[in-house]
Amino acid sequence: HAKATGRNTAVAYFPALDTQKIRRKKIEMRLRDALERSEFEIAFQPITSSFEGKILGFEALVRLSFEDGTPLGPDEFIPIAEDCGLVQRIGEHVLTHAVETAKGWPEDVFVSVNLSPSQFDRADVAQMVERLLIRLDFPAHRLELEVTEGLLLGNKEHVSDQLAQLKRLGVRIAMDDFGTGYSSLGYLWKYEFDKLKIDKIFMEGLDFDKDRYREVIETIIVLGHKMGMTVVVEGVETAGQVEMLSELECDQYQGFLFGRPMSAAETGPALAKQQRDTPQSA
Ligand code: C2E
Ligand code: MG
Ligand code: MG
Ligand code: MG
Repeated sequence: HAKATGRNTAVAYFPALDTQKIRRKKIEMRLRDALERSEFEIAFQPITSSFEGKILGFEALVRLSFEDGTPLGPDEFIPIAEDCGLVQRIGEHVLTHAVETAKGWPEDVFVSVNLSPSQFDRADVAQMVERLLIRLDFPAHRLELEVTEGLLLGNKEHVSDQLAQLKRLGVRIAMDDFGTGYSSLGYLWKYEFDKLKIDKIFMEGLDFDKDRYREVIETIIVLGHKMGMTVVVEGVETAGQVEMLSELECDQYQGFLFGRPMSAAETGPALAKQQRDTPQSA
C-alpha cells in the first residue's frame, strides 16, 4: 500500500520525527548562511535600578529570522548551533557587535552578553574575550558575561580556569536563569559570581501562588546578598510585581515593564530620554 502512493505515505508513519528533523536541518542551513552573510542582529534589553528605573546596562540578545522574514528565536536556534559547532562563531559575532554598540553609550552603562556552555569547550574563551576588549578598546569592567548553571555541571577544570581568567580580566560574571537548573550552593560559592539573575519563572509563579513564591524570591535575594552578589529579577511585567519586589531589596530589574529588547539604534535615544527625565541634583 505504501508503495502504491510512494514516498509521502512512507514518511507519514513518523510525521512528528520527520518534521522535527527537517526543521533542524533547515535551521542549521539558515545559521550557516546567516554567519556567512553576517545577518545576525542583536537586540538590547534595559536592566534598570530598583529605585528610579534608571538604565544601568543592557543585555544583548541575538536575533535571527528566516529569509522570508519568519522570526526564529534563540531558545530554538542556540541549542542547534551548539550541536553543529556554530555557537562559537555566533557568540563571537554577538560579543563584537554588542561591545561596538556599547562604545556609543555613557561610560557608566554596562553591556551583558550570554555565553553558551559549549563556548567553554574551546579552551581559550577568556583569551578570545581579552583580545576583543583590547582590539575594540573597551574596559573590561563595563562587560558582563552571563552563564547558566549547566556550565558548572561536572565540575570541569577548564571551566573553572576560564571563569577565573575572565574574572582576572575584570569582567563580571552573572549566573543566569537562577533556579531553573541544577544549582548547587557550592558552585555559587566556588566561582564567586558577581551577579545572580533570578529566572522569570519566579515572576510567573507570583501570579498564581503569591505567598509561596514571595518567600522563595525573598530567600534567593537574601542568599545572593549574603554571598556578595548583585541580584537581578528577570521577567518583571507588572506594577504589582515591582511593588512586591521593592520590599525585598532586589538590586536590579529586567522585564517588559521597564523595556522590551530594542535595536542598537534605539538604545541611544532611550538613554538620552532618561537623562532628560531624571532630575539632576546639580
Ligand atoms: P536569557 O538570557 O534569560 O534572556 C532573557 C529572555 O527573557 C529573553 O528572551 C528576553 O526577551 C526575555 N524576557 C525579558 N523580559 C521578559 C518579560 O518581562 N517577560 C517575558 N515573558 N520574557 C522576557 P530571548 O531574547 O528570546 O532569549 C532567550 C534565551 O536565548 C536567552 O535567555 C538566552 O538563554 C538565549 N540567548 C539569547 N541571545 C543569546 C546569545 O547571544 N548567546 C547565547 N549563547 N544565548 C543567547
Ligand atoms: Mg541572559
Ligand atoms: Mg536569563
Ligand atoms: Mg532565560
